[in-house]
Amino acid sequence: MFDDLRDLYQEVIFDHNRNPRNFRIIENADRKVEGFNPLCGDRLTLYLQMDGDVIADASFQGSGCAISTASVSLMTEIVKGKTEEEAEELFKKFHEMTTGKDENFNLETIGKLAVLAGVREYPARVKCATLAWHTLDAAIKNEQQAISTE
Ligand code: ZN
Repeated sequence: MFDDLRDLYQEVIFDHNRNPRNFRIIENADRKVEGFNPLCGDRLTLYLQMDGDVIADASFQGSGCAISTASVSLMTEIVKGKTEEEAEELFKKFHEMTTGKDENFNLETIGKLAVLAGVREYPARVKCATLAWHTLDAAIKNEQQAISTE
């Protein structure tokens, strides 16, 4: 990866950590699931407002490291207006990207989420980045119990 691209990615992560998007409670949310990453201590509560099978609104509360906060902030931005199926497809791609199993993964297929591609070089941080998505997956499947990455 080019250094200037890496710097740009880091700048986006810093920005979302300093100024998280959709950091609020949705009153009477259709879905509410808690996620916890004991490895790092990241905690979040994800709220979804559904319109049929479309995610009409997404928000979160909680506290965690810069990677987990940036990841959930970006995620709530990106899944808004997506169908459950489209969101699950993004989760699959995000998981492939962060676990680095596909060495030829095409970053262009994942849009802004590509800023988190760097975590695949830091296995301990992968769970920080994927916590939001595992929590979303549970919310889409309408599972009420808290999610733990362990
Ligand atoms: Zn973390």
